[in-house]
Amino acid sequence: MITAGVTGGIGSGKTTVCREFEKLGAHVVYADDLAKELMVQNQDVINQLKKTFGNETYHTDGSLNKSHLIREAFEKERVEELNNIVHPAVRKEFRNISQKSEKRGEKLVVKEAALLLNNGRPGDLDVIILVLSNRELQVERVKKRDRVTESDITARMNKQPVFEDLTPLADYVIYNNGSLEELQKKARELYHVLVHTEFG
Ligand code: ATP
Repeated sequence: MITAGVTGGIGSGKTTVCREFEKLGAHVVYADDLAKELMVQNQDVINQLKKTFGNETYHTDGSLNKSHLIREAFEKERVEELNNIVHPAVRKEFRNISQKSEKRGEKLVVKEAALLLNNGRPGDLDVIILVLSNRELQVERVKKRDRVTESDITARMNKQPVFEDLTPLADYVIYNNGSLEELQKKARELYHVLVHTEFG
């Protein structure tokens, strides 16, 4: 079994690539979704978040007080503290998931995350796949998908790494500047390369 990370900027096409992998049998873990789950289910994460951002981080019913966390973490430039709590928990859970997948005889386990190469190449993934796209296309796609303004998108993009600079850390780069079908085809081809190559 191999583990792969799929990363890239907002609207670059990461999820589309992962959906194709899933169709072919890969087990994909979406880091954002897993993080959201752990923030309400993992007691260690809950305790650390309360300690760092205050008890108001959770409503009395145990649900996340998103507006409080946005105010405390994002508007006060404390995102790194949030990431330092959530990311290690995501990595740990991904390891658990991968171990279970291996026992089940699965061939490919994938972690999809925009923040994957911020501290260099992660040691727990066999292969890194970077999805790159022209900036204008990314903006156009996200505008269509999320109905958000162009300035919101560019503000989010400007907080992300310059993914083109991260190509030396990737084993495979998928350029997504053509049609959706072309991207899906590239993903399917890569899936077959991955499951038929010995890594490590
Ligand atoms: P985010 O980080 O914002 O979640 P992402 O990198 O996961 O984005 P996707 O969700 O795969 O990106 O793609 C963004 C949108 O653009 C989706 O609606 C997807 O269907 C569409 N899209 C992706 N690639 C193409 C393409 N080549 N042509 C047309 N539409 C595309």
